[in-house]
Amino acid sequence: MTVYDRLGARRVINASGRMTALGGSVLGQGVLRAMEEAGTSFVDVAEFKEKAGNRIAELCGAEAGFITTGAAAGIAIMVAAVVAGRDLNKVFALPVVDWQPREIAIQSGHMVNFGASVAQMIKLGGGVPIPVGSVNMVVSEELAGTISPHTAAVLAVQSHHAVQKGMLPLSEVIRIAHRANRPVLLDAAAEEDLRMYVGQGADMVTYSGGKAIEGPTAGFIVGRRDLIEACRVQEQGIGRPMKIGKEGVAGLVAALEAYVQRNRVCESDERRQVSDALIDALQDIDVLRVSAVPDEAGRDIMRVAIEMRDKNGVALKKLVSELESGTPAVYVRKHHLEEGWVALDPRPLQIDDVPVIASRMRQILRDDPGNRMS
Ligand SMILES: *Cc1c(COP(=O)(O)O)cnc(C)c1O
Repeated sequence: MTVYDRLGARRVINASGRMTALGGSVLGQGVLRAMEEAGTSFVDVAEFKEKAGNRIAELCGAEAGFITTGAAAGIAIMVAAVVAGRDLNKVFALPVVDWQPREIAIQSGHMVNFGASVAQMIKLGGGVPIPVGSVNMVVSEELAGTISPHTAAVLAVQSHHAVQKGMLPLSEVIRIAHRANRPVLLDAAAEEDLRMYVGQGADMVTYSGGKAIEGPTAGFIVGRRDLIEACRVQEQGIGRPMKIGKEGVAGLVAALEAYVQRNRVCESDERRQVSDALIDALQDIDVLRVSAVPDEAGRDIMRVAIEMRDKNGVALKKLVSELESGTPAVYVRKHHLEEGWVALDPRPLQIDDVPVIASRMRQILRDDPGNRMS
C-alpha cells in the first residue's frame, strides 16, 4: 500500500506532461538517495544553499545560483531583487513599494497564466507589470519606448504557454534592455537548455526543478553574481515563505547532475517508443483520429494528438473528464481542448501505462450511448 492509497488519493497515469499540479516528475534513485541523506542530519542551511547554488551555477555556465521552491517563486524573487536590491529597508517593505524604479516591462504575449499569472508573481515581488505591444505583435520600438527611469527590468517568458509568433526574440529583448542599461529576467520554467539563455546574456533565469530536470518540487535562479546576492537577501522578506529545505536542495542538485549527464538520444528514442505504442494502441478506436504532433515551443517532444472523428468537442470534453475521474485517473494534455483536440505526452509515461490508457479510453467510449449511436 502506498502513501496515496493510505490517504485515499487515486494514483494518476500522467499523459499530460511535467505538470506541477500532477507532482512534477517522478524521482530517480540518485535523487531519492540524496534527499534521504540530507534528511538524516543537520547542516548550516545558509552555507549548504550557497554551496549548492555555486554547483548549480557551474552546471548552467552562470556566475551564481539561488535555490527556491519553484519557478513561480523564482519570478517573484528575481523581481524583488531588482526592485529592492540589498537595501534591507526596501526588502522589509515589499511587496508594498513607494519608490522607483519598480516597473517591469513584459511583452503582452508573455503575460500568461501557468496555473497562476506571471503578472501576479511580478506584483508579489513589488513590481508593476507594464505590458508592451499587442498580444500577437511587439516591435522593437515598443519595447525601447516603454523603458523609462521607472523601469527596473524587462521580464521575458520562454514557454509553450507564451505566444510564439510576433514576440521579439530573447536576443532582441536583451539587446534593447542592455542598451538602456536594464537587466533581463527570464522565466524558463519548463525549458530544457540550462546554458543557452545565460549564454545569450540574460541577467537572471529561473527554472522549475520538477519539470525538464525531473527533480523534486523546487526551482532555482541562475545569473549575475550581484543580482543573485540580492535574491539571497529577499529570504529576510518576501522570499521567506518561498524558502526550500535541505532535502529539496539536495534532491535538486542530484537531479541537475543526472540531467546534464543523461543521454538525450537514448531518451528521445524511448519517448518515441511510447508515442508509437500509443498510436498503435489507439488508432483502431473508430471514433478517434490519432496522429503525431511536434511540440509547439520547438522542444524535442513528439506527442500523440487525439480528436473525435466527427469533431464533436462536447464528446471529447466528456472523454477527458471521465478519464480524469476514473481509477486510475488518466490526465491528458488539455492545452488545445477548446480547439477540439488533446495530446498525450510520452515523457511522464512508462510503456506499461499504454495498455491502461487504451483500455480506459475504450471502456469510456463504448460505455457512452451517444457514441454507440453515432
Ligand atoms: C510551471 C511554470 C511556472 C511555475 O513553476 P513552478 O516551479 O511550478 O513554480 C512558471 N512559469 C511557467 C512558464 C511555467 O510553465
